[in-house]
Amino acid sequence: MKTDVLVLGGGIMGLAAAYNIGKAGDLEVVVLDRYGVGNELCSSNDVNRVFRYSYGNDQLYTRMAVESLRLWREIEQESKQELLVQAGLLLLNGDDRNANAFNDASHKTLSRMGLGAERLSKNDLNRRFPQFRANEAFFDPHGAVILASKALTTLKSLAAARGVKFLKGQAQKIILDGLPTVETDNLGSVEFRKVIVTTGPWTSSLLRPRLTPMKPTRQQLVYLKPWTGLDEYRPGKCPIFFTDNHYGLPAAGIDAVKMSAKDSPEVVDPEIVNRTVDDEQIVSCRQAARKFVPGIADGEVVRSKVCVYDMTENSDFVLDKDPEHANTVFGYGFSGHGFKFAPLIGRLLAQLTLESKPSFDLERFTIDPGRRRKPMLGAHLGKGE
Ligand SMILES: Cc1cc2nc3c(=O)[nH]c(=O)nc-3n(C[C@H](O)[C@H](O)[C@H](O)COP(=O)(O)OP(=O)(O)OC[C@H]3O[C@@H](n4cnc5c(N)ncnc54)[C@H](O)[C@@H]3O)c2cc1C
Repeated sequence: MKTDVLVLGGGIMGLAAAYNIGKAGDLEVVVLDRYGVGNELCSSNDVNRVFRYSYGNDQLYTRMAVESLRLWREIEQESKQELLVQAGLLLLNGDDRNANAFNDASHKTLSRMGLGAERLSKNDLNRRFPQFRANEAFFDPHGAVILASKALTTLKSLAAARGVKFLKGQAQKIILDGLPTVETDNLGSVEFRKVIVTTGPWTSSLLRPRLTPMKPTRQQLVYLKPWTGLDEYRPGKCPIFFTDNHYGLPAAGIDAVKMSAKDSPEVVDPEIVNRTVDDEQIVSCRQAARKFVPGIADGEVVRSKVCVYDMTENSDFVLDKDPEHANTVFGYGFSGHGFKFAPLIGRLLAQLTLESKPSFDLERFTIDPGRRRKPMLGAHLGKGE
């Protein structure tokens, strides 16, 4: 088999790259996924994900979020589907100094960039969002719930409409000496002119030594049904929220509020990861809710899910060509915060593949470990500086 562009991995990043290349011209594009495009095991597939401008002091991610929102809206227009539900983001101050510093820095950065953010006193919070408890909070009006599963199916349809083909199969090895090919488990060798590697938490097996490494970590999600009823927990009345160590999303795409720890450092092998949520995780979400959002603390768990982050050491993505093989483009290490940028990342990966100038400076996302920034305070949270 032969194709112009072979995309390995049909999660949100592979789909976004294929969609953008499909848009750019008449190249033959094939997306190969070992479990099928948008499968249940990939990092991209869940009911919802957070979109936000707030990134602490980090202006680059904030600017990228602004551009991504514009691109999400274009995709919504083209597909006539609602993918982002406006909700706002509430950053609740608590006992964690790093989390409080992140909240304060986000407010300052958004204000400085003229993007609008508010500081809320305890009284303001009681009046505006009576579901929440904190002595101080910040509000980022640009927070939105991304309907993640719907975004996957939507991008797949848009890419298919542009002629992108989808195949099920596992890439086992990329061969770059002589005729560039990918060896697969079930389709033999696939010849390509360019290959894009977006295999999420499974990427390590396709990385050469001396390229930036990635660690898969296990994350657990819990969906709680508010015992006081759902009305106060829908977007419009209830924003996305960050607490000391947890985050949550209002009931959008599902009749329950999602909660999870911001980051769990448990390194796992994605081939054998335990995909059942631990009881301790449910207890920890309930404890955080009891303090910050009491109305959901005793809610019934209506859904739970384990998902794997692909963490780099400093939480910055890798968006780069292989320095020794320019026909291989990598997009990985999305470190638990990539989904919101998917339309932009898809465009950047397409630009790298098509040899056009990337629309953002990609130095920070280099694959060369020697040129990457040292981890910043709180960067392990995958939530910016
Ligand atoms: C629990 C959790 C919560 C998150 N919350 C947010 C959030 O609120 N906001 C946000 O912006 N981001 C969030 N993220 C991050 C975001 O979801 C990810 O960055 C994004 O989904 C990564 O997409 P991907 O396409 O790179 O990887 P994936 O979705 O994992 O896709 C990789 C695909 O590659 C396939 N594959 C693997 N190996 C091979 C192979 N050898 N051959 C062929 N196919 C292969 C897999 O089957 C898979 O389908 C979260 C992530 C997780 C896990």
